[in-house]
Amino acid sequence: MALSADLTADPEASRALRTQVRRTRIDTEPVSPDGGARTRGTPIDANIAAVDGGIACRHCGGGLGELRAGVPVAAVVRERPVPDAVPGMAAGGYVDRELVFRTSSCPDCATQIRAEVVVAG
Ligand SMILES: [Zn+2]
Repeated sequence: MALSADLTADPEASRALRTQVRRTRIDTEPVSPDGGARTRGTPIDANIAAVDGGIACRHCGGGLGELRAGVPVAAVVRERPVPDAVPGMAAGGYVDRELVFRTSSCPDCATQIRAEVVVAG
C-alpha cells in the first residue's frame, strides 16, 4: 500500500504500485491484473483450487495445469538471489550452499502462488 504525505492510504498510488509489482513477477503485463471471476472449485489454499481438469487460480480463474511438487506447472517461476530477498542468507553466512528465492505466480493475474527459499540448481 502506498501512503500519501499525510500517511493515509493513497488508492491510486497503491494501484500503480500493485501493478508494477505484478509486472515484475511475470515479466509482462498481467492479462487480468484485478482478478475477476473467482474459481469455484475445491480450495487447496488461498490462491489455488482444484477444478475439473486440474488447478486454477482462485483470484482470476485462470487455468494452471496440474500440481507438480506443490507448484502448478503453468505458474511463472522466477528465482532471485537470496540476499536480495532475505539478507544474511548468502552462502558462507548461516548456510554453506547457495540458496535462491523462488516465486511461482499466476501467468494471468500475477498473483504470487508460492514463495520459498531453496538450494540453487
Ligand atoms: Zn490468476
